[in-house]
Amino acid sequence: MKKGKKLYEGKAKIIYATNDRSLGIQHFKDDATAFNNLKKSSIEGKGVLNNRISEHILTCLNNIGIENHLVKSLNMREQLIKLVEIVPIEFIVRNIATGSLTKRLGIKDGTVLEKPLLEYCLKDDSLGDPVIAKEHILSFNWATEEEINKIKEITLRINDFMIGLFRAVGIKLVDFKLEFGRFRENGITKIILADEISPDTCRLWDVVSQTKLDKDRFRKDLGNLIPAYQEVAKRLGILHEQSNLSAVNFSKPTAVKMKKK
Ligand code: 5GP
Repeated sequence: MKKGKKLYEGKAKIIYATNDRSLGIQHFKDDATAFNNLKKSSIEGKGVLNNRISEHILTCLNNIGIENHLVKSLNMREQLIKLVEIVPIEFIVRNIATGSLTKRLGIKDGTVLEKPLLEYCLKDDSLGDPVIAKEHILSFNWATEEEINKIKEITLRINDFMIGLFRAVGIKLVDFKLEFGRFRENGITKIILADEISPDTCRLWDVVSQTKLDKDRFRKDLGNLIPAYQEVAKRLGILHEQSNLSAVNFSKPTAVKMKKK
């Protein structure tokens, strides 16, 4: 499969074209950003770990019949994917209240939710990915009612599956973000899972110690992000106990400017 021109570059990934118009190459960068790009850094080895972890989870989801964009892994940082038209919404699933939910609504951090909460955010960095209602999605034709219902159904199945996957290895799935896209095949357009599922897009807490094993280590300056991501990969059985993909190497953040409250 020949790598073509760059189609899109996001904060943590690049998508390249291939000689097949329906397929692309998703490349995982080492870049880390938080607070809508106000905090930036490059963390050696992060892209490799996210590629491995996301490939593992998306393969497991495919095995239980949840269609997604992953075709196959190509190398340490790249995957062959189906090119989709991304639905411009971030679907956030929460099992435990933390992060922006606690700040927005004053809910106590760590509150276990009675049932999973699904939130919709508009995918727009310039607006800070604001939370929106289903009515906004319908009013502005970002997705149809049928698409939202389908996505909701798939999202809750993914949550059930991933709670079990992580619980089995001593990790609590606190919350996560999903993205979906439209893929046209044999004249039919289908909604499929896209993007990635990794410690960059999930909050993962150790069941016993509550240690954060996710991107909050970068957001909150807790350090040791690579060992945390490696721990997730090791527990999922996709990284050998003795492996050390790279040294812990935090580059100096290039910009740290917090918004005034
Ligand atoms: P929060 O809204 O509390 O900041 O995030 C909720 C969950 O969604 C967290 O697991 C967080 O990692 C994920 N999330 C929300 N927005 C983004 C985003 O723009 N990029 C990434 N990588 N994850 C996000």
